[in-house]
Amino acid sequence: MYDYLVVGAGLFGSVFAREAKDKGYSVLVVDKRDHIAGNVYTRKVEGINFHQYGAHIFHTNNKEVWDYVNKFITFNRFTNSPVANYKGELYSLPFNMYTFNKMWGVITPDEAKAKIEEQRKEVVGEPENLEEQAISLVGRDIYEKLIKGYTEKQWGRDCKDLPSFIIKRLPVRFTFDNNYFNALYQGIPVGGYTKMVEKMLEGIEVRLNTDYLANKEELDGIAKKVIYTGAIDAYYDYKLGTLEYRSVRFENEVLDMPNFQGNAAVNYTDRETPYTRIIEHKWFEFGKDENGNDLPKTIISKEYSSEWKPGDEPYYPVNDERNSKLYAEYKALSLNEDKVIFGGRLGEYKYYDMDAVIDSALKMTKEVL
Ligand code: FAD
Ligand code: UDP
Repeated sequence: MYDYLVVGAGLFGSVFAREAKDKGYSVLVVDKRDHIAGNVYTRKVEGINFHQYGAHIFHTNNKEVWDYVNKFITFNRFTNSPVANYKGELYSLPFNMYTFNKMWGVITPDEAKAKIEEQRKEVVGEPENLEEQAISLVGRDIYEKLIKGYTEKQWGRDCKDLPSFIIKRLPVRFTFDNNYFNALYQGIPVGGYTKMVEKMLEGIEVRLNTDYLANKEELDGIAKKVIYTGAIDAYYDYKLGTLEYRSVRFENEVLDMPNFQGNAAVNYTDRETPYTRIIEHKWFEFGKDENGNDLPKTIISKEYSSEWKPGDEPYYPVNDERNSKLYAEYKALSLNEDKVIFGGRLGEYKYYDMDAVIDSALKMTKEVL
């Protein structure tokens, strides 16, 4: 009899399993996939750590979480600074003095501010949608070239029909700082995320290709408690309805050249290019293998925003009224379970960054272990 059965070898499950094991509990981890690490899974392609479920950049302001992950692996000094490509014109992101200089030829922060001030006048009163919010933050020129097309491709809707908060989290800086995140700590695990999760799970029994829901009775029979990080609606056999997700489709290509675009991320901000961005994975680790050698080939992923349908990979929870209400109903059911605890992005139907999911798992261990 195990003390804990952990369903899901993603970050939430792996952190919980590590902490439980270290406190002397017996733990079994199962995952229905044929690999550990959940969506942060990386695998080697042509010597490059390829992020199979989308590019993952670790960034946090949480020192406890940063110290925690650094116990398992070393992080490199990668800083996310995407480039925007608008019909062949290249701009720095997030919006900063390099962007303003390229857009308008302005040299000083005061000149940039004056330009934005002049363009934002067209928005009167409180911004009521994403278009108005964007224009009021950075002016119409930047909105037209760097925001409108990208946002409409990503969300499949007109900017006038999108809420303004989506754009508010993008930094606007009057300095020459291309760091996309406002985070104290940032980096990529040297050798890939899978290696980090392998370390977390060291000495812990893991069964892959094992679907908990398909073997529920048997698995419930061998553990005292279950930590479930799969989808909460699937746990209840969708009896109240299906929770929806927004999905992404990746088209991956290995190219016989050392350098395709010179950066990890290039956003295509026009409306016509069908994908939103191209990730070139080798640049997360500076184009080198673990021994510091240059890699002769490269792998790129084109990202297409796609409608989700049941059976597709669930990526981003949709926090609209219908789904939030449905989740609340499932959550109410889950509170009646005495043997099972739900956690993680699917178990809680919540968009978590990696640092937030680790924080949440650590908090849970403090509560229940
Ligand atoms: P998951 O990683 O999904 O793990 C759940 C596991 O449970 C999976 O392995 C699944 O196979 C398993 N499972 C489910 N059902 C069952 C079952 N019935 N039986 C057995 N196993 C089951 N965060 C950042 O901080 N920075 C980023 O740059 C970033 N980029 C992202 C890009 C994309 C495209 C997406 C979608 C997310 C990104 N995130 C990023 C968020 C990050 O992926 C999550 O925070 C993290 O993966 C959540 O971990 P988790 O353990 O909750 O879920
Ligand atoms: N965005 C944009 N142009 C860009 C990058 C982002 O207009 O080149 C907008 C877009 O609406 C996006 C939002 O800013 O949804 C937030 O961007 P972020 O990269 O944080 O979003 P994510 O891709 O992680 O959802």
